[in-house]
Amino acid sequence: MNSYWLESTNTKDYSKLDNDIETEVSIVGAGMVGVTLAYLLHQQGIKFVLLEKDKVLSSTTANTTAKITSQHGLFYSYLIQNFGKEFAQKYLYSHENAISSIEYIIKSQNIDCDFEKQDAYVYTCSEEKVQEIVTETEMVKALGFQAEFCNEVDLPFKTLGAIKFPNQAQFHPIKYAKGLLEKLPADCIYENSKVVDVKKEGQHYKTYTENGSVKSKYVAITTHYPIIDFPGVYFMKMYQDRSYVVAADIKRDLFQGMYISAEEPVTSFRTAKYGDKRLLLVSGSKHKSGDNNSKLDDNYKNIENYIKMLYSKANILYRWNTQDCITLDKVPYIGEYSKLMPNVFVATGFKKWGMTTSYVAAKIISDKILGVDSVYEDIYSSTRVEPIKNIKEIGNMLKQTAHSLVLNKITPPIIKYEDLKIGTGGVVNYKGMKLGIYKKSEDEVYAVKPYCAHLGCELSWNNLEKTWDCPCHGSRYDYEGNLLNEPSKKNLEKVKIEE
Ligand SMILES: Cc1cc2nc3c(=O)[nH]c(=O)nc-3n(C[C@H](O)[C@H](O)[C@H](O)COP(=O)(O)OP(=O)(O)OC[C@H]3O[C@@H](n4cnc5c(N)ncnc54)[C@H](O)[C@@H]3O)c2cc1C
Repeated sequence: MNSYWLESTNTKDYSKLDNDIETEVSIVGAGMVGVTLAYLLHQQGIKFVLLEKDKVLSSTTANTTAKITSQHGLFYSYLIQNFGKEFAQKYLYSHENAISSIEYIIKSQNIDCDFEKQDAYVYTCSEEKVQEIVTETEMVKALGFQAEFCNEVDLPFKTLGAIKFPNQAQFHPIKYAKGLLEKLPADCIYENSKVVDVKKEGQHYKTYTENGSVKSKYVAITTHYPIIDFPGVYFMKMYQDRSYVVAADIKRDLFQGMYISAEEPVTSFRTAKYGDKRLLLVSGSKHKSGDNNSKLDDNYKNIENYIKMLYSKANILYRWNTQDCITLDKVPYIGEYSKLMPNVFVATGFKKWGMTTSYVAAKIISDKILGVDSVYEDIYSSTRVEPIKNIKEIGNMLKQTAHSLVLNKITPPIIKYEDLKIGTGGVVNYKGMKLGIYKKSEDEVYAVKPYCAHLGCELSWNNLEKTWDCPCHGSRYDYEGNLLNEPSKKNLEKVKIEE
């Protein structure tokens, strides 16, 4: 099922790049970052080409919850403790600046995108978390921002406390980004134009798609997950995490504000304009991408049951899910792709807070291209070499990689082909071979080599989405083995089987 955002908008079709062209900046990936960057460059009279492998705005940005806020969970105590007050202050104000810049763009360009000012809250229902929220409130106030501790909020259940960030916002992300695209020259935007290589040739870069190329001085890789493995090695510095969103018509008045819980399971609430009614959006059920256990089917059900417990007349209308990248120290990577690739830029690792971060990233990259100093650039440096703050995650990543590269290759699969039920899939023993098989029906059976085309990790079957997901770095493939999500760049090896 498509997201509400996709179902309620249409974007124009753009042509495919099938020749060799030249410009000042090649932008790879037309999600929120790529589109915002193209807009900012165009405003400054800089020539660009925007290359999208599928349809513009059809990936992560189409499946977000689109809160526009500098409140990224209980994040500021963490930032102050690990990076200091000045760093935390810059982080906070870069996102506050993004909120006002987005509002300015919407108003000045007359973009009809259901933009609404709302306060943002992190709430708790657990005694143990109250003190954390009190501390976070004090820390944020010490940064000069008017956060407030609230004993009560407008949610339909009892909470024990919340931190409020006033004057935040929410919008319809596709209506907004489509509004930006409409201000751009259409002949600079290409769809179905997958970038397969970026090469330095003399003083310029050549960005190659399957059927053409773009020569430019600057390249911005805004592909969500960076598509170049070496240099950069972003796959060693990030993991991907999925969350699920359910939208419902509640048939009664809804609350004011945007909310996220301080405790696990993290649950988030917002409302959205829905004709002359309001939609309720609840998201949660988060898990590391590729961590596909038998409870996967419950991910939507749990949210839906929760909505129905709160609002008995709720009519569930939409469900969608997506994943975002999280860096090892939880701070996004924005700026130079690698010291070895001058004039190539990256923006990734938004930790599910990509609406403001997209603007922060686009502004830093456009400032770099224009030669303007950015006050915020240093805190997001993508080439930073810092002591790892998140030891637990790096341990998990290394363990999983080792497991998939070595152990899974020598351990036989548990499921026998005969035991695989119709409508399900898995890594199975098929005539002594280890294959990834999906039995769509008695006559339609799809088989692949169950190893990720990125670094060879063993894939896990996702029975909810009918996809093959990589537990190492979050690449995903459909049941036929076609690539859905990076960092992998190739399809899976397909295998013909005979019964
Ligand atoms: C469930 C969920 C809820 C979220 N809610 C919020 C929220 O409330 N507020 C908030 O601030 N953030 C939220 N986020 C985060 C936010 O949605 C993302 O960080 C943001 O949308 C990322 O935008 P992007 O442009 O980087 O990526 P994308 O939108 O994925 O765009 C990248 C584009 O690059 C293209 N591409 C990839 N490879 C190539 C290639 N080789 N050649 C050409 N094109 C390519 C892709 O097709 C895609 O269109 C949420 C995330 C999740 C997972």
